[in-house]
Formats: sequence, structure tokens, C-alpha cells
Amino acid sequence: MQTGAPSRTVTRNDVKHADPIFENADTGGRDTPRALRDLTFPEMERLLVADGLRAIHARALWRMIYRDGVTEENVARLTPPLRRWLAERDALVNGTAPGVAADIRSSDGLTRKFLLRLGDGQTIETVAMGYPGRFTVCVSTQAGCAMGCVFCATGQMGFSRHLRPGEIVAQVLHARDALAEDGKSGLRNLVLMGMGEPLHNYDSVLAALEIISDTRGLNIGPAKITISTVGVVPGVLRLAEEKRGYKLAVSLHGATDAERSALVPAGKRWPLDELIAACRTYCAKTQRRIFFEWTLIAGANDTPAQAQRLAALLAGLDAHVNLIPLNPTGGFSGSATSGVAATEFQRVLKSAGIPSTVRQRRGIDVAAGCGQLRTERGRVVVAGVSA
Ligand code: SF4
Repeated sequence: MQTGAPSRTVTRNDVKHADPIFENADTGGRDTPRALRDLTFPEMERLLVADGLRAIHARALWRMIYRDGVTEENVARLTPPLRRWLAERDALVNGTAPGVAADIRSSDGLTRKFLLRLGDGQTIETVAMGYPGRFTVCVSTQAGCAMGCVFCATGQMGFSRHLRPGEIVAQVLHARDALAEDGKSGLRNLVLMGMGEPLHNYDSVLAALEIISDTRGLNIGPAKITISTVGVVPGVLRLAEEKRGYKLAVSLHGATDAERSALVPAGKRWPLDELIAACRTYCAKTQRRIFFEWTLIAGANDTPAQAQRLAALLAGLDAHVNLIPLNPTGGFSGSATSGVAATEFQRVLKSAGIPSTVRQRRGIDVAAGCGQLRTERGRVVVAGVSA
């Protein structure tokens, strides 16, 4: 058992909206697809067959949506029965194409951040980050987030709703097409580290990833996709059972329940002993390494003693720790750890045999921390100036 675990019963208010996970959860639209982008390839085949068309048409449809683009020219190349079917289902084709509320480039030209407006007016963030020879896109999985991490702008805004699979897929398409307009290609990696907790929207997220990794379309392989969770234990165990091949990143930020829960309220729902046990199960069943995320906050979780506790917690796990200096947000008074303290923290981990990387903060001038752009633009709208 970890020391410092809270003894009182955790209520729904501790982890807003987090209780229904896997029980009566909003499915994020899995039951009532509103767009073809909500469907995996086998689901699209079944829909066509149910409507009296042949399953083989799914290949042409899939190629148009995910490779060639839904243009008049490309629609005209489809077979007449498929064109008629599409004409009757225009909303299915176009139902999740988001609008653009903001499109900001970082001063170094390496990061481009989008605030996308969904059909019901919700806005979500998507970030394209450039690295030598490749791009990584970071997508949102929910509008807002129920987990309430105190240092996170999305956590500060609360939960609105789950995203549908097509709304997650549409972010990748949008980033790819926007980069192509700039003459850039090489969108090879996907991280689910935008707004929302992916494992709180499990079914829709996993359906979206099946679509995104399909080799007939976007073809971003499972090994290039990272699911980042704040530690939703049932979701980690489900991933362990399903062995889908995606990378898993678990946000810790504290190595005792008391320290962690002060930053991550979900830590009260899923204490560290349960979470680390689930991670050990995951490693054993999948034979995969787990990445642990640690936001370095000056004076809060960046001392050598805390690094030692973290090393003890992860002993024996196939783990890699990503140390991320805090991206400051308006609703949290903490500040980023200094470079010297970060280096010392890393040294302690290394001496205990735990590999780690100090991540560079990217795109601060485009409010690249999750939820920051939506928060900023929300303030602008309140001030009466169009975003
Ligand atoms: S850090 Fe992630 S899980 Fe925590 S509130 Fe922000 S979006 Fe949600």
C-alpha cells in the first residue's frame, strides 16, 4: 500500500462525471453513427450490405474519404449505385467535418495549433508538432475533461461531452490536410494527449484508432500511436486484455497518493497501488513498455526525495519516465521546475536504473498546453471580440 492514502469515501464530486466509466457511459455516438467517419471498415461494409449494396464498395468509399478526399471529381468516379447512396446520405459523409475557430502557428514554425468547432458548437484543440522529417498530431478525445487535474486548463473547464469516433478521426484528417497545404508531409505519429481522458471514452477512442491505423486509409500504425491516461484503471486493464499494440502513457505526477491526489483528483478514485498493479498486468500481458508522464512543478513534485519515491514505485516495471516542465495556466499558480532541478531529478532516476527524458515544452506562444487555446479564445469571446 502507498502511504498517505485518503481514508474517506470518494464521491462523484471528487472526480466529476468519472463514475459512469464502463457502466452506463455515454458511448460517444458508437450506437448511432452520424457520419461515415464514425465507422470502422467492417462497420462500413455492414452498412452498405444492409442498404442493398455490395461490401466491396467499402474499399472505394474508404479510399476517397481517407486518401483522395471527398471532392466532386472523386465522387463522380464512384459507381452510379454508390453515388446515389451517397447523395441520399450527404449528412453521413459531411456530418463530422469541423469548422476552424482558430489556426495559430508558433514563432519557430514547428507547431501549429487548431481550435476546431464541432457541429454542436463545442470547440476542441488539435496540435501538429514538427520534428526532423516527420509530424506528430495531438488530438482531443472529449470536449472538456472530467478528471480535474489542477494544473490543466482543460481540467479547469470541466466536462462537456465525449467525442464521437468521427470527431477524433476528423482532427487527424484536418491536421494532415492543413500540413499538405503548407507543402508538408510525413504525419507519422499520433498522441492522444489533447483535451479529455481517452480511457473515459474507451469505445469511441478505440474505434477511432482502428480507423486511423487502417492500412487502406490514414495508415498510422499502432506502434506510432500513444494513448495517454491519467490512470483510469479499468481502461488500463481492458487495454491489457485486448492487446491492440498502441503505446500507453500513464500520468503520475506524484509518487504517494496524497501528493498525487493533490494534483490529480482521479488518484482518489484509483490509488497508486491499484494503478501500478494494473500497469504490471499491462506489461505482463502485452510485453510492452509503459511510459510514465511526470509534469515537473517547482516546489511541488521536483525534489530528489520525490524522484527516489518514484523510482521505488516503478521498480521492476518496464518503464520510461517523461519529465515535462509545467506549461503555466491561468487557473493554477504553480511554475515550471528549473533546468537544474529537472536534471537532478533525472539523475536520481538514472541511478535507480529508471530511464527518463526531459521533454521540451513546445509551442508556448500558441498556447499548446491542452485546453489553453480554448480558454484563451473563450475569454476573447466574452470580451465581445470574435474569435
Ligand atoms: S491533464 Fe488530461 S486527464 Fe487531466 S484534466 Fe487535463 S485533459 Fe483531463
